[in-house]
Amino acid sequence: MMHKRLVLLDRDGVLNVDSGYVHTPAQWQWIDGAPQAVAYLVRCGCRVVVVTNQSGIARGMYTESQVQSLHQWVNDELRVYGGEIARFYYCPHLPQAKVPAYDCVCDCRKPATGMIMQALRDAGCAPAEAVLVGDSERDVLAAQRAGVEARLFSGGNLYTFVRALVGGERHERIRNSQ
Ligand SMILES: [Zn+2]
Repeated sequence: MMHKRLVLLDRDGVLNVDSGYVHTPAQWQWIDGAPQAVAYLVRCGCRVVVVTNQSGIARGMYTESQVQSLHQWVNDELRVYGGEIARFYYCPHLPQAKVPAYDCVCDCRKPATGMIMQALRDAGCAPAEAVLVGDSERDVLAAQRAGVEARLFSGGNLYTFVRALVGGERHERIRNSQ
């Protein structure tokens, strides 16, 4: 397995507990090991980004500006651990949405591939050099459509999960080079 230099993380259910339409720091509850997981990936030399559907924006439950503020706060928290999300990609759209500006069939709402393709372009990265971690079939399908390997995270400790994902390969390379 080759080294992955771009790691795409779903947000709700991977970084934070998915309690539904999370949009403030007060609502944010880290998944166990998530800050440590991001810091570990960054130490491994990976670019770590988030790709998240945020239809709550189209539903009029919160604004893009609130989401952006939350993401800044998340990065403030992560930096304490030595981690950072290089970029947050979010889809604010939803067909038949309450807020007209976001009512459309877009190419970014997962399982569409828009956010993943943009992240690959921004990283100058081939699909084979990326891996996506998501908690739903929708994430896995989006990744597969983009030619990106997908790993389903079904709970537990995210740090343990990503060590197996990237660390195992790294240690294997070190062993092989001895
Ligand atoms: Zn969209």
